[in-house]
Amino acid sequence: MPTSSSSSRTLPNNLHGKFLHITDIHIDPHYQDEATIKSGCHRQAKKHHNKKKRKGKLAGYWGSPTSGCDAPPRLANHVIDWIADGWKEEIDFIVWTGDNARTIPIIPCIGNNDVHPHNQLQETVNILETYSEMWRDFIPADQLPTFRQGGYYAIDVAPGLRVLVLNTLYFYDSNDAVKGCEKRKGPGHDHLEWIRAQLATARRDRARVYMIGHVPPSERTFYSSCLDLYTDVSLEYRDIIGGHMYGHVNMDHFTVLQKENNNNYDCDPTDDDDDDDVQVDLTMLKKSDLRKQYKKVRENEPAVVIHVAPPILPVYNPGFRINEYNTDPSSADFGVWIKYTQYYSDLNEYNNKHRPELEPPQFQIEYATDEEPYNMKDLSAESWVDLAKRMTQKGSKKSKHLWKTFKKNMFVQT
Ligand SMILES: [Zn+2]
Repeated sequence: MPTSSSSSRTLPNNLHGKFLHITDIHIDPHYQDEATIKSGCHRQAKKHHNKKKRKGKLAGYWGSPTSGCDAPPRLANHVIDWIADGWKEEIDFIVWTGDNARTIPIIPCIGNNDVHPHNQLQETVNILETYSEMWRDFIPADQLPTFRQGGYYAIDVAPGLRVLVLNTLYFYDSNDAVKGCEKRKGPGHDHLEWIRAQLATARRDRARVYMIGHVPPSERTFYSSCLDLYTDVSLEYRDIIGGHMYGHVNMDHFTVLQKENNNNYDCDPTDDDDDDDVQVDLTMLKKSDLRKQYKKVRENEPAVVIHVAPPILPVYNPGFRINEYNTDPSSADFGVWIKYTQYYSDLNEYNNKHRPELEPPQFQIEYATDEEPYNMKDLSAESWVDLAKRMTQKGSKKSKHLWKTFKKNMFVQT
């Protein structure tokens, strides 16, 4: 286990206070531009003469937002290059929350589509051996045995700043190879014990901890025993946890976990949302459910806030997130998450260029948490609970506008 102690913490002069969060790349090597959407962007349309008219209904050069197609390799390569060009010198580390299927740094974790058959990961499987080889450069040597056995590891990204990389497939109820977290010596139970031990060590070391994983904890995705235990341990160590960062769901949003799960999305037909939800898959949450959850959040109770970043894969538009944290080594707030800026690219704009191959997508700021309309002073759990409340005030114009903006950002401006 890597150790560090704040008493001997010296300021590493190369810290910039920024880290990148990217997720769900989903490259399709068989992607073809101008293929039909119906064919999963794999086969050209039969009638070629009508192509011009059908532009926009066929697979785009840079990808096809809202089509259900995976990403063309050129998009993934371009995004990585674009980020590297602009940010390489300014970011301290990258958290990459799964469904990677491509190998670049830095702190990768396993997604449900990184195993085959997808979602299915048994307790001891060769695939972890394979990943431990592939990610050998990213996983600390002393963590390799842990990773080989469980697919999770801990890494110090700076003195006093630690990332716990979780293997959520052991909590995921679509993984038939595990059955919840109660059973002693089961992989889910063992994983939670490991999390608890790591957090205890981190508190002793006075380290700030970020928890990252692929499938976000929720009632739709986790076995309920796993969700309860995850919530418990996260609440117990909330003083040292900087954030919970996830992917998989493909929508930009956060959820709130509280004791005695208020996180159940029971249906209240009188409290419906104003427009239709876009259904992408069964694990997808509906925004009306999310709004209900925000309404129900109990303000004066401790909360665990789970963050889901939107993917590079253009389910909607592709995006990535630049996070900022406190780098003052003398401060008790060292490592605390302060803000993030969400970037995106309007892919159709670039698909519709006359020569899209000559004008690759540029990324622009979609929103920043400390700016209008969010105006968050920091990214503590309390600030997110406050935002949830501000977005769901009955009869308030300001609240309505805030929720509208949030929804637009949830679907990355599509
Ligand atoms: Zn996934």
